[in-house]
Formats: sequence, C-alpha cells, structure tokens
Amino acid sequence: MLLNHLATGECVANLHTGVGNCRTMTGALLLILQAVIYFVTMAAVFRSRHQFGIGIFVCVLGVMHFLETYLAAVFFVQLPFGLISPGSTVMFSGKLMIFLLLYIKEDAETVRQPIYGLLVGNCLMVVLALILRLYSSVAELPGYRPNLTFLDDMGILMIWGTALLFFDSIALILIYEKLGQRIANTLLKRIFLSAAIVLTFDQLMFFIGLHLVSGVPISALYGGWIAKMAAAALYSALLVGYLRYVETNKPTLAGPEPLLQVFDRLTFRHRYEDLLQKTGKDMLTGTSDRGQFEAVAQSLIDQALADRKPVSLLMIDIDHFKNINDQHGHVTGDNVLKDVARSLGSSLRSGDRLFRYGGEEFVAICHDLDRADAATLAERLRANVEATTFVEPGVRATVSIGVTTADAGPVSTEQMIRDADARLYSAKRLGRNRVESAPVA
Ligand code: GH3
Ligand code: MG
Ligand code: MG
Repeated sequence: MLLNHLATGECVANLHTGVGNCRTMTGALLLILQAVIYFVTMAAVFRSRHQFGIGIFVCVLGVMHFLETYLAAVFFVQLPFGLISPGSTVMFSGKLMIFLLLYIKEDAETVRQPIYGLLVGNCLMVVLALILRLYSSVAELPGYRPNLTFLDDMGILMIWGTALLFFDSIALILIYEKLGQRIANTLLKRIFLSAAIVLTFDQLMFFIGLHLVSGVPISALYGGWIAKMAAAALYSALLVGYLRYVETNKPTLAGPEPLLQVFDRLTFRHRYEDLLQKTGKDMLTGTSDRGQFEAVAQSLIDQALADRKPVSLLMIDIDHFKNINDQHGHVTGDNVLKDVARSLGSSLRSGDRLFRYGGEEFVAICHDLDRADAATLAERLRANVEATTFVEPGVRATVSIGVTTADAGPVSTEQMIRDADARLYSAKRLGRNRVESAPVA
C-alpha cells in the first residue's frame, strides 16, 4: 500500500531525482486539473437548480464524499518541494467552497441540509459496515478478499472527517460573515481568508485523526496544508468568477420561459423573499393590503395614544371611478388606481401608513398628526392627485377624503373608520374632490 511506502520515506526519496521532479510537477498539475473539473461540474449542477431543483446538486456532493474519504486515507500525491498531499485535498477544499457558494446564493437553512445529511449518512454506513463482521458465511472469491480492517479505519476517519466538516462549514460561514463587516469590498480576499483559516484548522485536526488511525507521517501535514492553501486560492478565484459572471443577482434564462417557470425558476430563497415581499401587499398598487390593515391598524392607533400623540385616519375614495372604468375600460381603471396610490404614497410623510382598504378606497394612518395638520395633509393629498398626470392619456381623477383624529384613548379602529367614512360621504354629497374633517377645537 502507498501508505506503507510513505511511512518508509520511499516516495520522498524519489523527489531528489529529475524523474521525481517531473513526476511531482505532473502531480500538482493533475490536482489543479481535478480542482477545475470538480468546480466547473459542481457549479454547473448548482446553476441547474433553477431547472431541476437543488436535490441533484446535494446528491452529487454526497457521492463525492465517499471517494474523498477513501483518498484521504490511502492516496497520497507527491508535490514539488518534497511535499506530500492526500489526494482528497481537491475534493475536500472544493466541498467547503461549494458549501460557501450554497450559503451565499441560497441560505443557512439550505446549507445545513447536506451537512446534516453527510453526518447521518456516514454514521449509517459505519453501523452497516460493523454488521458485516457478523456474517459467518462470506464466500471467498479468488482475487477478492474483503478488507474489514480497512473499512473500520475508513469508518473512524469518515466520522471524524464529517464531524470536522460540520464545524468547518459553520465556522466558514461565521468567518465569512465576520470578515464581511471589515473587508466587505473585496470578495476574493474575504472568501480566500475564510477558506484559508478553516482549512488550516481542518488540516491540523484531520491530520491528528489520520496519524492516529493510519500512522501517516508528519510530512503529510505540511504538504497537505500547502496543497489546501493553493486549493483555497484557486477555488476562491473560481468562486468569485462564478458569482461575478455566471450567477448574477437576477438569473437570466435563455430563450422563452417554459410554462412551469413559476415553479422552476424560484429557489427556496427566492420563493421566501418573494413571499415576504408579497405578504401584506396589495398586488395591484403595491400598498399594504386590507389584511395588513386588519393586522396592524389597532396597534398603530394604540401605540400613538400610548405615546400621548394624536393619531389621524384618512379615508380616501376616488371620485366617479366607475365612470372611468365604464368609459376607458378596466385596464385603464387599474392604471389609474396605481397612479393614485403612487401619488398618495409620495405625498404622505415617511412614517405614515397607506392601505388599500377596498376597490378604490385607501386608508392612511398618520402617527402624531393633530386635527389641523391632518386637514392640511389631506388637502395636500387631494391637490396632488388632482394635479397628477396619469399614465393613461386624457384621463383625470380626483379623490374625496374623510378625516378623523383621535387624541385621547382608547379608541377602536372601527370607530375611527366610521367617523372617517361619515365625513367621506359628506365630501361626496358636497360635490367631491374635497376634504371633510372634524372642526378644530
Ligand atoms: P363615487 O365618487 O361615489 O365614489 O363613485 P364611484 O364610481 O367611485 O363609486 P362606486 O363605489 O360606485 O364604484 C367603485 C368602482 O370601482 C366599482 C368597481 O368596478 C371599481 N373597482 C373596484 N376595484 C377595482 C379594481 O381593482 N380595478 C378597477 N379597474 N376597478 C375597480
Ligand atoms: Mg368607493
Ligand atoms: Mg369612488
């Protein structure tokens, strides 16, 4: 076994010959080649998650883990300058970088899944391998002798490696986040430093296991470390290139989007962000919706009154909106609704909350706004809508507004809506395009 040769220093002796140097250069180049193939394949599979889901990527990652542990235990490569590195360097460092990629483009929840999966899978494999010892009738085929001792060694290394990987992955993400606060402007430096720190720790810890289980010589510690640093540099460059040029923030799909794109295109994080964005938002106008109003109105009012501040509620209704629909069609009506919502939103103060209460009715809740100021603000909203140039040519719209103010609590949302509604209808009766508010005491 190569391990035995290593222990006796036979391979190292080769390094002093010309043939040895040539071989070691080849070894280094092969490692680089493997690293590039590994990264490009993993990145391509990762990228395809938009079409096929993330499961394929996780499966590929899991399969690689077996070969990686096998190489870590028995396959050592000679590198230039007398260094020796386990053949697993490429795959182990790559896997960590791939976890980082998963974290950057997806989230902690997603990256946790393969990490836990590898841990459970390896434990299961070791348990099943232990049971192999209980078979008393193993057929002996010529040239095929089961090596259970090797499996035992592998099992321990696998558990140790996976436990380390568990810490490595979490540490990598934490360090990456921590470094982001200091050197956020240089992604390459940030990724390389995170990887270098974690791989150094890993190299030391994994070597201890390797040394105890397989008696691997100390030269492999240093050689492996150098190889891991080189791998970290190479992968960092590849990862930054991928993030910059392949996976930009808005994934672009070539060609016409397939029918099922709604399900395919969105990954978990995108879906989550999408959902967050849509929650409580009115689809047409982008203001908070009625559900959101029901959820927060009372607490907005209570909070203002608890702060001993007046709170005003404005009920805003578009005048003769039915006529706009009837004359110009519902698409125009929808566009007018959007324009009115935009005008109202930009006329309100920054802390005010605007809700689409019903079809063409909006409600604004304004913290720390007394009767007089509420009337002034409502007048500004009315005037701005009247002055709005609508996207639809030739269309004009105005609003009527009923205003109510509470300055001593407690008061219910329902009561404020009733008051504002009553004033709104006065405004409608009195000719529309006007504001009706309570007389200032
Ligand atoms: P008033 O000045 O008395 O408020 O008259 P109005 O025509 O605005 O009042 P009415 O409540 O009779 O009509 C409101 C119309 O708003 C009826 C409904 O078809 C329309 N509407 C409600 N929601 C939407 C929507 O999302 N899009 C469009 N285009 N129209 C809507
Ligand atoms: Mg109405
Ligand atoms: Mg109306």
